[in-house]
Amino acid sequence: MAMTEPGTEQTDRPRLLTGDTPTGRLHLGHYVGSIENRLAQQGSHDCYFIIANTHALTTRAAESHAVRDDTVSIATDYLAAGIDPDRSTIFIQSEVPAIAELTWFFAMLIGYGRLMRNPTVKDEIVTKELGDSYPFGFLMYPVGQIADILAFRPAVVPVGEDQLPHIEMTREVARRFNSTYAGVDPQAGDKQHAADGVFPVPEAVVGRVGRLIGTDGKNKMSKSLDNAIYLSDTAKQVAKKCNRIFTGRMSPTDPGKIEGNPLWDYHDAFNGDKTEVADMKQRYREGKIGDGDCKKRLAEVINALLEPMRGRRAALESDPDSVTRVLHTGTARANAVAEETLWLAKSAMGFDFFRRQVRLS
Ligand code: ATP
Ligand code: MG
Repeated sequence: MAMTEPGTEQTDRPRLLTGDTPTGRLHLGHYVGSIENRLAQQGSHDCYFIIANTHALTTRAAESHAVRDDTVSIATDYLAAGIDPDRSTIFIQSEVPAIAELTWFFAMLIGYGRLMRNPTVKDEIVTKELGDSYPFGFLMYPVGQIADILAFRPAVVPVGEDQLPHIEMTREVARRFNSTYAGVDPQAGDKQHAADGVFPVPEAVVGRVGRLIGTDGKNKMSKSLDNAIYLSDTAKQVAKKCNRIFTGRMSPTDPGKIEGNPLWDYHDAFNGDKTEVADMKQRYREGKIGDGDCKKRLAEVINALLEPMRGRRAALESDPDSVTRVLHTGTARANAVAEETLWLAKSAMGFDFFRRQVRLS
């Protein structure tokens, strides 16, 4: 393959956008749900990874400084996981003003009733125990997420299963914008939207495991629910958390349950030795192997996955400015693309009064 400058070589690759909310650190659910796909596609796609710090405020408005710290720690997690900043763009949502502006335009193209029927929004209100006191901004976040995505006019969006309703709304808004402002037939197929519209109708790509269960055995693994094994956990912490996985089994001689048991979901997800897993499951079902042995083996396979990340993390931590530099370069690149998109959108709307540039200092 011909050598080109990073940045210029990216332009002819299909664009990919995905990201994370800095409500904590990255966990194994992110890894199998999305990060693994990102690592696989950073060679073939022009990748943009958003750290959605504004969205984090929807549940942490009073903790903006902690959100700032988590923004840096998510970037560190990306780099430790193997995301290559020369090939991929990592950026901070709040420093890309075009996203906030597009949010405003898109909010006009989606009905309130449609938003409230979004199952992920309803689910999060329950699992995050938001009651009826969540801020108006919480309801805005799915619209903001549509802007996060469409600002980059991506072909693909790798996400976990819980995000599919958001991607479906994104696809609807892309079509609605194109038919309202760019003269695309409302019945047109995705190809025609990509060719004649301002926005492509992006495809969701769900990871190998769309919804990894948490160590509580109840909810999806989530950084907000204290049921996660983090990519940044030490080997000891991993062993401890594996030990505490809730399996519901009382004694090692009881016949063990496989389905719905996080211990086996994790072995399926992380233990590459399928013969060993099948054999252990069989003995577990028959009450011939204890939880302890299966948990110990699980900790070993998870630690084998995380070990190379620990090495890269140590290098990053010895040079803290390196992460800030990656974010600065990435956010500048992201602004170039998002400003271009905003201009195309405004031009289609007839709001193209003055052209502008965003420059970071
Ligand atoms: P929060 O609890 O704050 O919502 P989260 O753990 O759900 O955090 P997000 O930042 O909302 O993480 O999600 C980032 C990406 O990771 C999304 O694509 C989401 O679908 C995916 N993801 C999150 N949790 C899991 C999981 N347990 N299994 C698979 N994918 C997941
Ligand atoms: Mg989430």
